[in-house]
Amino acid sequence: MDPDPKDALFIFALQNAVKHDSLPKSGTVIGMVLGKYPALRPRAQEIAFLAKEVLLEVERLSPPERRKKLADLAPELIEEMNAPKVHTHELPTLERAEHGVVMRFAPNPSGPLHLGHARAAVLNDAYVERYGGRYILRIEDTDPKRVDPDAYRMVQEDIQWMGLRITDIFYQSDRFDQYYKIAAQLIGLGGAYVCTCENEQFRLLKQAKTPCPCRGRTIEENQDLWQKMLGGEFYEGEASVRVRTSLDHPDPAMRDFPAFRILNEPTHPRIEAQVYPLMNFTVAVDDHLMGVTHVIRGKDHIANTRRQRYIYEYFGWNEPVYRHYGRMGIEGVVLSTSQMREGIRSGTYSGWDDIRLGTLRALARRGIKPEAVRQVVLDIGIGETDISFSWDNLFAKNRDIIDPVADRFFFVPDPLSLTIAGASAREAHALLHPGDEKKGYRTLKFEYEVLLPRQEFQKEVKMIRLKDLFNVHVDWSSGTPVLTYAGESLSDARALKAPIVQWLPTGDATPCTLHTPDGDVQGLCESAVSSMADQVIQFERVGFARIDCVTPDGITAYFCHK
Ligand code: GLU
Repeated sequence: MDPDPKDALFIFALQNAVKHDSLPKSGTVIGMVLGKYPALRPRAQEIAFLAKEVLLEVERLSPPERRKKLADLAPELIEEMNAPKVHTHELPTLERAEHGVVMRFAPNPSGPLHLGHARAAVLNDAYVERYGGRYILRIEDTDPKRVDPDAYRMVQEDIQWMGLRITDIFYQSDRFDQYYKIAAQLIGLGGAYVCTCENEQFRLLKQAKTPCPCRGRTIEENQDLWQKMLGGEFYEGEASVRVRTSLDHPDPAMRDFPAFRILNEPTHPRIEAQVYPLMNFTVAVDDHLMGVTHVIRGKDHIANTRRQRYIYEYFGWNEPVYRHYGRMGIEGVVLSTSQMREGIRSGTYSGWDDIRLGTLRALARRGIKPEAVRQVVLDIGIGETDISFSWDNLFAKNRDIIDPVADRFFFVPDPLSLTIAGASAREAHALLHPGDEKKGYRTLKFEYEVLLPRQEFQKEVKMIRLKDLFNVHVDWSSGTPVLTYAGESLSDARALKAPIVQWLPTGDATPCTLHTPDGDVQGLCESAVSSMADQVIQFERVGFARIDCVTPDGITAYFCHK
């Protein structure tokens, strides 16, 4: 249920005043309230009036009184502000944002979202969070050749995973009638014309900066041809609508760029159409109609911004603020949607969440948390310089999030079964989390025979310590390692630089496959890991891992990072 607008304004104004230690602008508070409660938007005028009153009230309170009031009215907000924040760089301020913003994330539903999308999605989200306002999700599905019907669902899932604060959702495929209407208006203004040249003929003329014969048609002729296009009188390739630009533009791709084309096949999963709008047209029209105030996107869109500006100019619309951030190189994963799709089809990848891919679902499968992705993206920021994505930075942020909470277990890769002489049967008690005794202990029964990682015995070690148990001597005189109890003292083990090794009782070991980007590791782990499906844990001395699935045959885990 939507709250009383005055209460909502009061809480947001208090929160902002406490957070920044100064009185917020009324636009910021209005933007925050309307962004959070879209149902109040029709009452914007009344809310603007109430905001003034509310700010006067907040102004009269001293800083401690503001904090106290906020703690009474919305204790969760105080908690949120006090929560320790991992340091991230502050994003630069945006011009014309002081009265709130309307921003959008506009993916094509051609596959699930990947790290490149996350950058656009998170940066825009962060600005809406900062200035208040609306955050539009616009599904750009006007190219039927690039629509994957499953992607509609996957994109929504990925957005949920990222926790974006979307306030409005639009599908461009629902808006074809609007696009047709605005195309007719643009033709009426002389800003666009119907071109019936063959593609190749047009290309040659364009290279030569020469107008094509269609460019000289009258507005009436163009309007008539446009109706014929809509009426199905042309086949694919026979007619298009072009936006009239300068033919002298140094970039030939800018000259009279196309806005509509005809496609007889393939069919679109959501609509029946033959006349399809193209990206620059729909983006310009929608940014205008949806009241988008700020467009933050990659440098690869700079030429598109120039094209879109032509449309803004013809109509005399106010332009949004455009910001183009630098390219981001990402090594080590596949990001191209078509390459991923082909790899899945041919069986090279198991699916969109194969951990060799840079999709968000692949990161999630490995145990990367959305908050870590968000922090890395905010660190990278909106600078124009090209940068390369740092996996180490992502892993470091993720470690900060999961290390304090991940339970610890033993995983023994490539196990070797050995008997230890000289020790009595006993139980080892290992902390579930070394920093949090309250979480309790795991119990591992020592009954003479243990499983140890084979690789620990590649060198002729003299002593090892079984973690949380005791020290053992290793005798190599027979050619194979023979183990004997060597006392409990941890400091002895340290003095002798004995490796501290994870181990398992033979009676408490479950088969576990650990998938890593470098290949699969077969081993055994504590049976208690079976209850950790979908959780991120730490395999001590191996690294963090997400338990993907548990079956009677064993456990499948994905390596996250050290
Ligand atoms: N849907 C297009 C893309 O994902 C346009 C996005 C935009 O204008 O920001 O590349």
